[in-house]
Amino acid sequence: MTVNKISNPSGINTKLAHCGNNPADYFGFVNPPVVHASTVLFPDAATLKTENQRYTYGTHGTPTTDALCEAVNMLEGAVKTVLVPSGLAAITVPLLGTLAQGDHVLIADSIYSPTRRFANNMLKKMGIDVEYYDPTIGAEIEQLMKPNTKVVYTESPGSNTFEIQDIPAISAVAHAHDAIVLMDNTWATPLNFKPLEHGVDISITAGTKYPVGHSDILIGFISANERTKKIVEDTHKFLGMSVSGDDAYNTLRSMRTMGIRLAHQSKTAFDLARWLETMPQIAQVLHPALESHKGHELWKRDFKGASALFSVVLKGGGEKEAHAFLNSLKIFRLGYSWGGYESLAVEVYLGDRTVKQSYMGSLLRLQIGLEDFEDLKADLEQALAATGL
Ligand SMILES: *Cc1c(COP(=O)(O)O)cnc(C)c1O
Repeated sequence: MTVNKISNPSGINTKLAHCGNNPADYFGFVNPPVVHASTVLFPDAATLKTENQRYTYGTHGTPTTDALCEAVNMLEGAVKTVLVPSGLAAITVPLLGTLAQGDHVLIADSIYSPTRRFANNMLKKMGIDVEYYDPTIGAEIEQLMKPNTKVVYTESPGSNTFEIQDIPAISAVAHAHDAIVLMDNTWATPLNFKPLEHGVDISITAGTKYPVGHSDILIGFISANERTKKIVEDTHKFLGMSVSGDDAYNTLRSMRTMGIRLAHQSKTAFDLARWLETMPQIAQVLHPALESHKGHELWKRDFKGASALFSVVLKGGGEKEAHAFLNSLKIFRLGYSWGGYESLAVEVYLGDRTVKQSYMGSLLRLQIGLEDFEDLKADLEQALAATGL
């Protein structure tokens, strides 16, 4: 059957409303079917042998996972997206696919700490030379490139301390040395930064965060360009990674509202960040959209917007004051992850960094949810007062 086609809309919310939808493939139903599958049947022995049909086995994709991959491809401008069971797997799978024994990898010092744990344990054990670099290094990364540098790993901004990286400059140097650039783009999401358009070869998103948005599904997206398509596709297949139809379906369902959620959360977060800068108990607010942020100009040059995760540094005080703040919060709750509908706070520890960074007080990370500005502000205000600073 034929159904009216939406022809190449330009607005992001229009795109999100219609991406991954092929109603003509599913008898006109507006949403894709949820397929639960391992076995796919073949009509005869010859087709079984050649596997010459669209679907062959559950791990190799279903109409439900395809719908989500198509949506992510569109958002990323990617030629190939694969789904993995967590954001962390979206980091480990391409690193395993691009690195081999004897290779050198450069990793931004501000990365998500489970990425560092994977590199320090698994990658080093495999005989890979792991080196951390100052995330703000820019084109000077040239000095760290070795003949065996295969991968330059980036994350911008870092999800605890929010350093913005000069991704185009780093990518240009990496490419001149034939290295592949990976980027964890979970903070910005492809709505606010499109890694593949800025020189990155493999874009990584913890779908768990803004795409899912409800703190109830773990999922990761790995998006490749022409150069990395085969590596990503093969590694995904070799490692037996797959995502359930239910998780793929619900992720795509949540992505319909992602633009609206992100815009609302990001505005509240920015307003709170600006207000927090004026508070006497706060030494510093680490939010790339603030003019006081060191990476603000780069952020303005490359990003379309900010998301709703940032950190604050308490003015003086130590763990006692930081814990008094956290324990006094009533709307914000204490827990990891972010991008969901609910506001969260955590204390950030930077103990494992190699490129030293110091802040004048305790570092606290805030994830802003869908609640109202005035309620969140009042909650933060009373918790700051409880620090006694
Ligand atoms: C949470 C997170 C991940 C990992 O996502 P999970 O689905 O929780 O494994 C990766 N990168 C960043 C920056 C994150 O914050």
